[in-house]
Amino acid sequence: MANEKISPGMQQYLDVKKDYPDAFLLFRMGDFYELFYEDAVKAAQILEISLTSRNKNAENPIPMAGVPYHSAQQYIDVLVEMGHKVAIAEQMEDPKQAVGVVKREVVQVITPGTVVDSTKPDSANNFLVALDSDGKNFGLAYMDVSTGEFFATSLTDFATVRSEIQNLKAREVVLGFDLLEADEQVLVKQMNLLLSTEKERFEDVHLIDTSLTDLEISVAEKLLQYVHRTQKRELSHLQKVLHYEIKDYLQMSYATKSSLDLLENARTSKKHGSLYWLLDETKTAMGMRLLRNWIDRPLVNEELIKERQDIIQVFLDHFFERSDLSDSLKGVYDIERLASRVSFGKANPKDLLQLGNTLAQVPLIKAILESFGSPELDKLVNQIDTLPELESLIRSAIDPDAQAVITEGNIIRTGFDQTLDNYRKVLREGTTWIADIEAKERAASGITNLKIDYNKKDGYYFHVTNSNLSLVPEHFFRKATLKNSERYGTAELAKIEGEMLEAREQSSSLEYDIFMRIRAQVERYITRLQDLAKAIATVDVLQSLAVVAENNHYVRPSFNEQHEISIENGRHAVVEVVMGVQEYIPNSIHFDQKTSIQLITGPNMSGKSTYMRQLALTVIMAQIGSFVAADKVDLPVFDAIFTRIGAADDLISGQSTFMVEMMEANQAIKRASQNSLILFDELGRGTATYDGMALAQSIIEYIHNHIKAKTMFATHYHELTDLSNQLTELVNVHVATLEKYGEVTFLHKIAQGPADKSYGIHVAKIAGLPEALLERADKILTSLESNAVQLSTSELSEPLDTTVEIAEPQQLSLFEDDKSQTIVQALNAIDLMNLTPMEAMNTIYELKKML
Ligand code: ATP
Repeated sequence: MANEKISPGMQQYLDVKKDYPDAFLLFRMGDFYELFYEDAVKAAQILEISLTSRNKNAENPIPMAGVPYHSAQQYIDVLVEMGHKVAIAEQMEDPKQAVGVVKREVVQVITPGTVVDSTKPDSANNFLVALDSDGKNFGLAYMDVSTGEFFATSLTDFATVRSEIQNLKAREVVLGFDLLEADEQVLVKQMNLLLSTEKERFEDVHLIDTSLTDLEISVAEKLLQYVHRTQKRELSHLQKVLHYEIKDYLQMSYATKSSLDLLENARTSKKHGSLYWLLDETKTAMGMRLLRNWIDRPLVNEELIKERQDIIQVFLDHFFERSDLSDSLKGVYDIERLASRVSFGKANPKDLLQLGNTLAQVPLIKAILESFGSPELDKLVNQIDTLPELESLIRSAIDPDAQAVITEGNIIRTGFDQTLDNYRKVLREGTTWIADIEAKERAASGITNLKIDYNKKDGYYFHVTNSNLSLVPEHFFRKATLKNSERYGTAELAKIEGEMLEAREQSSSLEYDIFMRIRAQVERYITRLQDLAKAIATVDVLQSLAVVAENNHYVRPSFNEQHEISIENGRHAVVEVVMGVQEYIPNSIHFDQKTSIQLITGPNMSGKSTYMRQLALTVIMAQIGSFVAADKVDLPVFDAIFTRIGAADDLISGQSTFMVEMMEANQAIKRASQNSLILFDELGRGTATYDGMALAQSIIEYIHNHIKAKTMFATHYHELTDLSNQLTELVNVHVATLEKYGEVTFLHKIAQGPADKSYGIHVAKIAGLPEALLERADKILTSLESNAVQLSTSELSEPLDTTVEIAEPQQLSLFEDDKSQTIVQALNAIDLMNLTPMEAMNTIYELKKML
């Protein structure tokens, strides 16, 4: 390429591309956006568009691919969705008037974290995160560019940063400092994030105030700089940055939230079966987003929780008013996103009509809220700003039938602008004049089928069929000749046409100008619109929680400071709805002040996990402010929930099940306080029995002696139930079973004390394993239970600081002869991590046979 002559157009392309090396550059050329070189090759592959070349006959043709400008959005969406950046270069002058190469500039860079033109209207928040560091702490800021919401906080360690980024479901992170290579790898490889760098700061006193720390200001300003750098326009909808602390909310890691199916069902990645699915009776897109945020961040401040509860109670006490309220929210559009479309200069007449219709609805919403007559609603009522002047501006200016296009007229209402009305009069009357001329010429010429038509190319013309050509009058002049007819004009027709053409052109451009003026006026209301959006979203979420509480017979939980949990006949709110209320067996949960740990034993499939999750969901719902699924509930306000539930492998990060298990245990042990809730399901199961049991016991002891968090620990290690003899704050509970004539029924009912059997073979039977195999397992079990070296449970139950010796010294002599050597080798060869319980049993059986 070096020796070849580069055309001025390509030189311009290269000059622009140099500033956007990490983005696909869409270069506007007439009706297409073209991509060149590497961009073209890659885009052709991703977008399945054809790859051509610009100068086919040259020695080194330039690869080229293009997308039509009017359908570009769908291609841009695909690229951004896949985690790429797209820079859009437009023609900055009219090609007809340009001297030399048409001037082109990048007008916007669309990135996964800043995309606003999403084709999904009711989509969730899309947060762009920025990170900065002062060498000690991390500053984290995030923003939804489509709604303008903006937040900042400080965090002390990278693990928390990582968890916060996961919680925000961010897709792109802007780095304001040089991150350690290893940490960068975590973000890119494991979390699949797009990283961008921004070292410059954008100062804006309206958005950023001095109540933030220096680090928070720095990270927020870098985020702003990045947003401006990519959006390249005034963004009047950006909201003032809000400081937050993660401890202001119930803390849960991303893994915890996902294993509790809060926003989506972890197994299916769908909304169905999640807490969000259960609680979502919202009527507006804003309400929907706010509900997700509330579920994501339950409160820890009892006063704030009670404020929400009070309003839900009012809604429950006034059924009719509440139904009216729910109905009145149905016509409400996404004010927040409409406001940002205004700010982005993207709002079209339809958007303004939606905004106007929504505003027309607001006084009704306010009046209904007032009709409750409840002081609890005063604060909300006061937050609802009806903006009558904006509503009437839109109503009087925008034609109710206006379409989305802004350049072709028919968007401004008659009566709004005198000049426009005059143009329209010409257009209207012109049509009558034309009809008059048609009638007059038809009579004069005697051509009975003479008529006036219109098309873009010829304008207005007389249509004369070939058979009548002899009758065409002198003053007609020919405009066009067709196969069977000719088109004629007259001076009179041309004059009227000229007037009408002028009126049409003038009126379209006048309408465009008026529309721009109206939009600029609307822009001045953006902050008030955003406040209104927040108030309506809050009303929507609270009515949604009331509807759900009523439908499912929930109760209002109370809170205590005595560290007591008391749930009467509680239910797992989601399972109950999925399986049907009749089928569900309620369970009470009690932890008095002196109980910190419940050790739960019981067969597989009996309901241990459901019972534990029931507690977590009840706590989360209560701290969201929602009512809960039980007859009566009294809870402490928890500061955090830690879980180890389910066997979700973290394959992407290259960690084994057991490693993930231990890391989650470690999180809980390092971070939990007396006010936390810990749920451990089958902890220690991922390693060899003794190992696992030893770890399980020491973890229980550690929590019991040092942390005192409320803990549920479900286990298969029956031996651990003896711990209640030493640990005064630990109680045993089990899931009851009914055994009759060899058939076992799981009652799903929690009872005091330890379970006596584990019924694993019974579950295998339910799963449909062959009868012969089950019989064999039964025999092995009986023989194991009678012969096997018993694990000394009394020894194991000693607190961990006394060394636990499991193997007896004389057992060692076993390994001294040849046969034993073979057994030792066989034992060594076993890959415990990849052994099913059944294979383990068979292996033991084989080993015993060798002996
Ligand atoms: P495992 O030890 O195999 O993980 P588990 O004891 O944790 O089993 P769960 O997963 O909680 O058992 O429950 C198994 C099934 O039992 C659930 O899918 C549900 O259908 C049913 N179940 C659990 N609790 C109840 C309940 N309270 N009422 C009715 N059905 C229940």
